[in-house]
Amino acid sequence: SWSSSDSVISADSAGEAAEPGSPYRVVLLGASGVGKTAFASIFAGAADSMDSDDCELCGDEMCENMIEVDGEPASVTLLDTWDYDSEWPQECYMQTGDAFLLLYSITDRASFLRASELRITLRRFRPAQHTPIILVGNKCDLVRRREVSVSEGRACAAVFDCKFIETSAAMEHNVWEAFHGIVRQLRLRRDSKEA
Ligand code: GDP
Repeated sequence: SWSSSDSVISADSAGEAAEPGSPYRVVLLGASGVGKTAFASIFAGAADSMDSDDCELCGDEMCENMIEVDGEPASVTLLDTWDYDSEWPQECYMQTGDAFLLLYSITDRASFLRASELRITLRRFRPAQHTPIILVGNKCDLVRRREVSVSEGRACAAVFDCKFIETSAAMEHNVWEAFHGIVRQLRLRRDSKEA
C-alpha cells in the first residue's frame, strides 16, 4: 500500500491516499503530442458547468474535480505529466498515482511503443497487482493517418493486463468513458480491499 515515504513530488498530499473520501489520483502518461493536455482540458472543463471553484488548477499539471460515475460522486485529481522526454518525472508520477491512463496516438507508432515502455516501467514501480491502468489509443478521428490498428491496441492491452479504449479528444469521443472506467476500476479495488 501507499505511504508518504514513496512520495517524491506531492509532499502536501502524501499519505492521504488510503483515507476514505480523499481524491483518487489519476495520472496521464504517454509520449509527447499524444493528447494528454487535450484530455486534461476536457477534464478541467467539466467544472464549467458546475461551480468553477470545483476545479482547482494547481499549476498547469494538476486539476481536482468532482465527477459523477454510476450515480455516485467521485473526487479525482488528474495529473498531467509534462516532461515526456526525460525519464524521471513520469517515474515520479508513477509512485504517487493511484491509477493511470496510458496514452498513445493511433497515428504515431512510436508513441505506441513508448506506451509499452512506460507500462514496463510502471510495473517496476508498481509491482503490486491490480493497479488500475487503461491503455488509451487517442486521435481515432484521424482515420486516414492511422498507424496502429484497433486489434494491435487490444492485443497490447491484453499482454499488459489492462483495459483498452480508443478515444478522440478532438471529438470528445470516449474521453469521459476513459475517466469513468478508471474510477470504476479504483472502486472495484477499494471494495475488494474493504471486503
Ligand atoms: P500532449 O503533448 O500529450 O499534451 O498532447 P496535446 O494534448 O498537446 O496534443 C498534441 C496535438 O494533438 C495538439 O495539436 C492537439 O490539438 C492534437 N490532438 C490531441 N488529441 C487529438 C485528437 O483526439 N484528435 C486530433 N485530430 N488531434 C488531437
